[in-house]
Amino acid sequence: MEQPYLLLTPGPLTTTSSVKEVMLKDWCTWDSDYKDIVQSIRSRLLQLGQAPEEEYTAVLIQGSGTFGVEAVIGTAVPGDGKLLILANGAYGERIQEIARVLGIRHRTLEYAPDELPGADQLDAVLKQDNLITHVAFVHCETTTGILNPLEALVQVIKNHGKVAIVDAMSSFGGTPIAVGELGIDYLVSSANKCIQGVPGFSFVISRKSELIECKGRARSLSLDLFDQWQVMDNDAGKWRFTSPTHVVRAFYQALLELEEEGGVEQRCARYTRNQQTLVRFMEQAGFKAHLPASVHSPFITTFEYPDLTSFTFEAFYRFLKEKGFVIYPGKLSKALVFRIGTIGDVHIEDIERLCEAAASYLTTLRLES
Ligand SMILES: *Cc1c(COP(=O)(O)O)cnc(C)c1O
Repeated sequence: MEQPYLLLTPGPLTTTSSVKEVMLKDWCTWDSDYKDIVQSIRSRLLQLGQAPEEEYTAVLIQGSGTFGVEAVIGTAVPGDGKLLILANGAYGERIQEIARVLGIRHRTLEYAPDELPGADQLDAVLKQDNLITHVAFVHCETTTGILNPLEALVQVIKNHGKVAIVDAMSSFGGTPIAVGELGIDYLVSSANKCIQGVPGFSFVISRKSELIECKGRARSLSLDLFDQWQVMDNDAGKWRFTSPTHVVRAFYQALLELEEEGGVEQRCARYTRNQQTLVRFMEQAGFKAHLPASVHSPFITTFEYPDLTSFTFEAFYRFLKEKGFVIYPGKLSKALVFRIGTIGDVHIEDIERLCEAAASYLTTLRLES
């Protein structure tokens, strides 16, 4: 079946037809064929994250990515703990919102959307505030596409002996992350981002020595990461409650296709080519990237509105959709921007066609004004 448009968004994203096709079968959740798939996914995720099986476990959780983040925050931070959050965009702020709703003591270091959280400031705050037990931040802040300094931040957190929680939703599987070597305690991502599955669950690569301490801590029944882990381990791949079977099967296929592509390095290379081509051609067409290339991720790019009073996002969006591309609105309060994702089953020819369409749109607008 022909797709009406290509999704140039940071998830859900365009998946291959082979990933969609494996969803045409129904699975029994407690049958061993299905549970074997779940177990295989869990161990493949550990391999992807370079997280040794002796130290780490991968726990899958129903729901979108936020459910996974909420499960970690709500399960990991004890009643007398304090969470420090680094926020330079909407997803960092969402972690703060989770802590607020769950009544978890927290403190947030806020940064502008084009500003990187600094390791030195984090070090100073951890020296001064002894109550902090856990630190959470976003790796690729999808609000802008900025790539936060993962290694440097985790190193400071671990130097202080604190628990490191990383929302790597839009980066995991799209760029190598050495979870074990870095010492990350919890890394969260979801099915429908760089691994290129369909939406329906999130997963957490968790340090077992931390998670084992979390029995009875969760502030929610369904988002109890510890219990979810126990059932998945003790019943060899069984989920606590009904699992998204078709989504799980599709995710397994997506993992195989990631390996076929040559693994995370090759996928990262494709996304990087996509993103660099996008910026080059969009800038030739007259659009300016909002962030400098030095802080950019290969996953999603923020562009400023062109300097033409007749330009509106809505009309531009409708034009591109007609041409077969769906792009993303901006998420910044202080700048007029839109976003284009370069992840999913999207290739350089697609990006070139998109940029041609965008260029022709601007040319027409300029002629009319
Ligand atoms: C996509 C995403 C999430 C999760 O969003 P959901 O809508 O719950 O899937 C969280 N953090 C980041 C950085 C993301 O890109």
